[in-house]
Amino acid sequence: MYNKQGEGQGDFMKLDIGRILRKEVSRFRVNMKETLDYIDTTEGRIHFCEDVLIQGEVNSIKDKLYLELNVKTAVKESCGRCLKDVIINIDVDLQGFLTDDYKESVDELEDSFIYDGDEVNMEEVLKTAVLLNLPSKIVCKDDCKGICPNCGNNLNEEGCECNQDEIDELNIDPRLSKLKDFFK
Ligand SMILES: [Zn+2]
Ligand SMILES: [Zn+2]
Repeated sequence: MYNKQGEGQGDFMKLDIGRILRKEVSRFRVNMKETLDYIDTTEGRIHFCEDVLIQGEVNSIKDKLYLELNVKTAVKESCGRCLKDVIINIDVDLQGFLTDDYKESVDELEDSFIYDGDEVNMEEVLKTAVLLNLPSKIVCKDDCKGICPNCGNNLNEEGCECNQDEIDELNIDPRLSKLKDFFK
């Protein structure tokens, strides 16, 4: 289990594939459940608001190991316009061969997972699953009006007294506003 006080990450989300590597079994089920607050990724911090469920199967096919997984959880992001929390459900299927050859896996990044010793680092798998499935623009609703750049009110909720036309003018790209003067 994930030890919040622990330094280093120890057994944190490691999938032990020792038995199948030693050919004691030819397949086994994966069933992991982790309670996480957050993980840090290259794209920033991801906050979880539900347990992470990872279920699937590892199969040995000829001399290769094939991993099929479903990753289910929910993450909390902020609306890109008004900053309100937005819950995003993640339900992703991933599959690929397991390799301990990092170079090989970079060449075929799309469809392979890396293992090291007897273990697959599921934290990396989880990051991939979440990042691949976050929308590029996160908004609380399609017509979110955002925040007034002048007074900071959430325009979905309270509106504000500011003159939005004036603000729009202030926000015009300076290059464009020069152009506007030109046409006066
Ligand atoms: Zn919003
Ligand atoms: Zn305002």
